[in-house]
Amino acid sequence: MVPLEGQSRFRNPILGKKVARHIKSLAPPYGVKFCHVCGTHEWTITHHGLRSLLPKTVEVIAGPGCPVCILPSSDIHEAISLALEGVTVATYGDVIRVPASKTSLQDAKASGGDVRIVYGVGDAVKMARKEQNKEFVFLAIGFETTAPSTAVEVLGKPPENLSFLVSHRLIPPAMELLLSVDGLKINGFVAPGHVSTIIGVKAYERFPKAHHMPTVVAGFEPLDVLFALSMLLNQIKKGKAELENEYPRCVRWQGNVKAQQLIEKAFKVVDGQWRGLGTIPSSALTLREEFAMYDARRKYDIEIGSPRDLPPGCLCHLVIVGKINPPECPLFMKACEPQTPKGACMVSNEGTCRIWARHQILE
Ligand code: SF4
Repeated sequence: MVPLEGQSRFRNPILGKKVARHIKSLAPPYGVKFCHVCGTHEWTITHHGLRSLLPKTVEVIAGPGCPVCILPSSDIHEAISLALEGVTVATYGDVIRVPASKTSLQDAKASGGDVRIVYGVGDAVKMARKEQNKEFVFLAIGFETTAPSTAVEVLGKPPENLSFLVSHRLIPPAMELLLSVDGLKINGFVAPGHVSTIIGVKAYERFPKAHHMPTVVAGFEPLDVLFALSMLLNQIKKGKAELENEYPRCVRWQGNVKAQQLIEKAFKVVDGQWRGLGTIPSSALTLREEFAMYDARRKYDIEIGSPRDLPPGCLCHLVIVGKINPPECPLFMKACEPQTPKGACMVSNEGTCRIWARHQILE
């Protein structure tokens, strides 16, 4: 057989079937539930039909791994309020479609607000430098993966007419929250590869140590996910809870120390609101005091009231923690579809509802 190269090695169907057989041999007779915390993992699992390869006793659920889905309504309302007051708001494409109490940044744009889509924070910096007669705000969302690029710009003395609405969130505290969700018994975590390239394997030490929770950092190819599941099952079979790295080709124990230092220099860790989940302790980043002049929340007096995270009937809060699958929401593919999203999980390509909708998984 001709050896497969690069990425395709991790999509080898023959090897995939072999690992699936190994998973079957390791699966216990009782049910186990593994949780991943990454929209890209959900995409890989759904797109490649990996759940169909698993024995009935092994379930894989999607946790809060989509940064757009967990963005609270309040943060979007802050951006909307600024846009309607004449500030130019720049952010990622998906964010402008996220519903926030019957409105969105897209609606604000339609009402005359200057809302611009950018590919990254660098674009916002360029715009602000070029149009110095305007005030710009960059709505900075994402997990530990995107926080370093925001930090680089904050530390690099951005133009004075640019400030940041920081909505970065941290993954390990959200994983910790999952362990306390009523009726959600998780037997192991598949930790996210992208985030782990930054924070390293070490960031998950608390899960096996403090919670006796098997945890495996995994990559995004189908075989990565299957290997990770077999590693979790192996730990369960041996009665162990360990921290393992299935993704050593990208993730190191210490992570990206330089990126961690950038985050540390620009931000401090605070409690954070997550859509539908309330406040998670030590789960968000905010700008440090010395960068207060770039903090949009300090620069502007933003009044937003108390916007609701979930429209009537929306069960995004249960989808986000993996308590239900998208078809269990009464709005799924009825009132809520990819073209007409009612909930945040139907907006982004990393949202569980959107992924299931795209793959026509209706039950
Ligand atoms: Fe939210 Fe729509 Fe998913 Fe229901 S189908 S949980 S409303 S995104």
